[in-house]
Amino acid sequence: MPERRSWQNKFNEWFHDMLSKAEIVDYRYPVKGGGVWLPYGFKLREKILSLIRKLLNETGHQEVLFPLLITEGMLAQEAEHVESFSQQVFWVTQAGRESLAEKLALRPTSETAIAPMFKLWIRSHVDLPKRIYQVVSTFRYETKATRPLIRVREITTFKEAHTCHETFQEAEEQVKTAVKVYSSFFDELAVPYVISKRPEWDKFAGALYSLAYDTVFPDGRTLQIGTVHNLGQNFSKAFEITFEAKDGGREFVWQTCYGISERVVAAVMALHGDDHGLILPPSVAPIQAVIVPIPYKGYEEAVNRKAESLTETLRREGFTVHADLREKYTPGAKFYDWELRGVPVRIEIGPKDLEKGVITLVRRDTLERTVAPEGEAVKALESLLSRVQADMKNRAEAWLKQNVKRLKSLSEAEALVKAGNISGIIELSWCGREECGLKLEDTLELKALGTPYPEEKVEGLKCVLCGGKAESFLRLSRQY
Ligand SMILES: [Zn+2]
Repeated sequence: MPERRSWQNKFNEWFHDMLSKAEIVDYRYPVKGGGVWLPYGFKLREKILSLIRKLLNETGHQEVLFPLLITEGMLAQEAEHVESFSQQVFWVTQAGRESLAEKLALRPTSETAIAPMFKLWIRSHVDLPKRIYQVVSTFRYETKATRPLIRVREITTFKEAHTCHETFQEAEEQVKTAVKVYSSFFDELAVPYVISKRPEWDKFAGALYSLAYDTVFPDGRTLQIGTVHNLGQNFSKAFEITFEAKDGGREFVWQTCYGISERVVAAVMALHGDDHGLILPPSVAPIQAVIVPIPYKGYEEAVNRKAESLTETLRREGFTVHADLREKYTPGAKFYDWELRGVPVRIEIGPKDLEKGVITLVRRDTLERTVAPEGEAVKALESLLSRVQADMKNRAEAWLKQNVKRLKSLSEAEALVKAGNISGIIELSWCGREECGLKLEDTLELKALGTPYPEEKVEGLKCVLCGGKAESFLRLSRQY
């Protein structure tokens, strides 16, 4: 795509432009790192959330809602966890004129809020497994520069799932289910990803291990868009979440948790856009097709009436369709407007179309025009939307594939870094030792994403750094 290249370098500017022009979010709110979801952005967010809700509900998860506040004592109960978040927590210390006897934290995440309730709810093995999730705001005092949708202080779209199980094996199975759910989710959003097992030094605090989804942005940097953690028994031991096992003994539950955030919205926007604006996948586009009448002297009434009746027909079939009948705008201005917002298909109805009994469809991703008999509008739109969806997914996957490079040696990687040519993810054979991993990060000035998941067998290769037997490939990138 030559067009993509032209704005690749200007990606940041483009992204910020889109946030305001397409009316997604407004971060001019007076509290740093907090933004306002605008109507079109809110609709997109809602569509994305309803997709993940559907996938979770279908796999035995139940939605709940926990309080925003966590006592200091609760937050401090799991040592590693509190240590890792200590610099990022917002505290409530006063109410009215009184100082609070115990400080309250605005949740940075909810493991320690949920654990005490799990302790009350779970009595015996018949109460297990337990799978809950919520969609809430979480708060983190980001000290790095904040960035709309990507690094914010109030994460407004935190979808977190938490589960409890009888055995380690069942928790492992749940991790696999979570990976399946998230993979389907990102597939439906046409967002390509790699799944990596995060290195020990970068896993979620309190987890046995962490898996993460990363995608590559048009500027070559990677963004973490989802995580899945096996928590083992760390939290259940800290919070004494036990159950009566089948044999009558008391045991600690095994836990997992997994989350996504508004970074998903950022990824959907970033991965498909072009010079004209956003290109949204039909699966979550707030409007799937916009109908624009092309007025001509004497035909104004007729084209408008046709636009309205076609809108009704298509809506009855379950499409989200909008007829743009604004009188003060020319058709050209309307095209510009809806292209900017990434509506997947535009349907034009002009006097000639009326005469011939046809409609003109224009797909947003390629701007290609097709004509279909008016009587077959439903079929034509349905097949065009599914083609757009599939093509968007294929293009995005090709982009990712092109941006994951397996290199043979450290010098090859160093040459790329030196030439300023690091785009996407590089993979280097690695012995698995933290010492070598950290040194690779340092030498290349890149961040380690971890090793491929599912695990890839590596044979006959040596660590690019120490020359020892390679256990896996270490993925590295410039990260958001
Ligand atoms: Zn090594």
